[in-house]
Amino acid sequence: MTRPLLLLAAFAACGDDLASYDLYDAEPSEFRTLTLWVQPHDELPPDLARAACASWRPEGVLCETVPDPSEALVRIHAYEGECVEREDGTYALGHATVGGGIVLEIACLRKFGGTPISEEVLWPTVAHEVGHQLGIWHHVPTDCDDPETRTHPERGPVCGPALMNPMMRRGLMGMLYLDHLAYELRDQDLSVLRLAPHEGCTFTASD
Ligand SMILES: [Zn+2]
Repeated sequence: MTRPLLLLAAFAACGDDLASYDLYDAEPSEFRTLTLWVQPHDELPPDLARAACASWRPEGVLCETVPDPSEALVRIHAYEGECVEREDGTYALGHATVGGGIVLEIACLRKFGGTPISEEVLWPTVAHEVGHQLGIWHHVPTDCDDPETRTHPERGPVCGPALMNPMMRRGLMGMLYLDHLAYELRDQDLSVLRLAPHEGCTFTASD
């Protein structure tokens, strides 16, 4: 099996544009609980990570932090190494690997979000990496001419602003409509939700 590793990046010149986004909201018919472990770290508040994870609530994803990584479907680790500029001029903020692993690049997050890392940078980063773990092992290109653009069978090309853009959107604290389409196109076999309990069906019998 392939083990995709996808990262979220940021440009150094990305400025302080606090855009207001029209978040996607929906009332799901069933919920699943995604357990989350966050490596203890001064700049990774577990409540913030849980709230960022819950950006996916419109898809029925609930998030709960657990103290033991072996009990968690998603595990967030902090990488404390140097922040290195990539060849394309971007900086990696986070990585996700199939099976629940997320690594956050603390030094690069500080470069864009300050110290301690601001919510407007940490939130979209965690929400994006959790999106990968839900089975969205692709990115939503900002530009529709991008050959990576996928096509939704009913809604057409999935491109434009999204949490799942390859570049971090500062201050985006929830999912957008295009993230919903990307979620519908997710790879269910490579989603941690396969293992998440759900509270849908009560199957009973009586005489
Ligand atoms: Zn990514």
